[in-house]
Amino acid sequence: MKVKVQVDKDLCTACALCYDEVPEVYEDSGDGTAQVKAEVGGDGAIIEGELAQRVSEVTEECPSGALVTEVIEEWYIFLEGALKPLCLFYFNLSSGIETLTMPLKLPSL
Ligand code: SF4
Repeated sequence: MKVKVQVDKDLCTACALCYDEVPEVYEDSGDGTAQVKAEVGGDGAIIEGELAQRVSEVTEECPSGALVTEVIEEWYIFLEGALKPLCLFYFNLSSGIETLTMPLKLPSL
C-alpha cells in the first residue's frame, strides 16, 4: 500500500494526535498545527508499507479532517513510469521538429 500525504493547515486544530501517533511522518510545525516532515518529502510525500497503514488509520482519527491521505494505486504508478519517458520523448521530438522548421519560416513583410 502506498499513500500520498498532506496536511490542510487551515483545518488543523493542533490536537497533536497525528504527530504523537505517527512521529515518523508528522511533526509540530511550531504553532501546534501538524505538517508532513521534510525528511519524508513534506506535503505530497509518498509513504508506503506499514507506515502507510498507520497514516491511513490516524487520518480516520483526525478530529478535524485536516489529514489528506490519498491511496496511490499500483497501476497508476506503473502507468506514470511508462508514460513519463514517452512524454519526454515526444517533447524532445517536437522541440527538434520546431528547431528544424525554424530556418524555413519566411520573413514577414
Ligand atoms: S490529528 Fe488532525 S487536527 Fe490533530 S494535529 Fe493532526 S492534522 Fe491537526
